[in-house]
Amino acid sequence: MKTISSEERTRYDRQIIIPEIGEDGQKKLKNARVFIAGVGGLGSISAYYMAAAGIGFLKIVDMDHVGLSNLNRQILHRTGDISKPKTESAVEKLRDLNPLCQIQAVQKEIRDENIMELLGDCRIILDATDNMETRKILNRAHISKGIPFIYGGIDGFNGMVTTFVPGQTPCFECLFPQNSPPKNKVGALGPMAGLISSLQSLEVIKIILGMDGTLKNRLLYIQSDDMIFREIQLKKTPDCKICSLGKGDSCDE
Ligand SMILES: [Zn+2]
Repeated sequence: MKTISSEERTRYDRQIIIPEIGEDGQKKLKNARVFIAGVGGLGSISAYYMAAAGIGFLKIVDMDHVGLSNLNRQILHRTGDISKPKTESAVEKLRDLNPLCQIQAVQKEIRDENIMELLGDCRIILDATDNMETRKILNRAHISKGIPFIYGGIDGFNGMVTTFVPGQTPCFECLFPQNSPPKNKVGALGPMAGLISSLQSLEVIKIILGMDGTLKNRLLYIQSDDMIFREIQLKKTPDCKICSLGKGDSCDE
């Protein structure tokens, strides 16, 4: 396991003094490998916090280019980045923030055919996509690999987040079994993306640290127009065609 340098001890001082983290926890973060699917509204913030916290390796995958209408929420990208690949824009900012964090950026569409290769040896998937189809690909992949999948979604003033762990929780398709038609544009508000992706980042950090109290089997649903935070208990769908085939019973996290 990689150790912590004196520079890192200073950089992460304020989190190393947290009893649940300490130097051992910081080492765990340094040795962690996290896959971030998308560097748009959610991925902008989660990638930023993951890099800042000293996650040792981040793989970010996105096929899009930065557009003017992204900038109300995708705070990793700036006006001068318009037309650049989002991965390129993201890597510049993340390396500038923390050169100690190793970042691999891949400008590709996530598909069934390439997801396992893209995941490589990443041990956690953070969902920062904006569509059901890609989430279903990530869902199948996390079950095959036996690794956690942190789901987050936003729509206007609403947002939700939960953590799926193979063999321990339902899966994404237990919750969303239907193949819903792609939605036209949904509203996306920066602070809502910030809130949900911050919660996802916390889940990632807690899983790496081996802490209890994650959102396993619980979906946190936030209606920020009235500031109502609700918790919905999740149950596995007995006949779920994705996680009820015995594939999800080999979780090694
Ligand atoms: Zn399922």
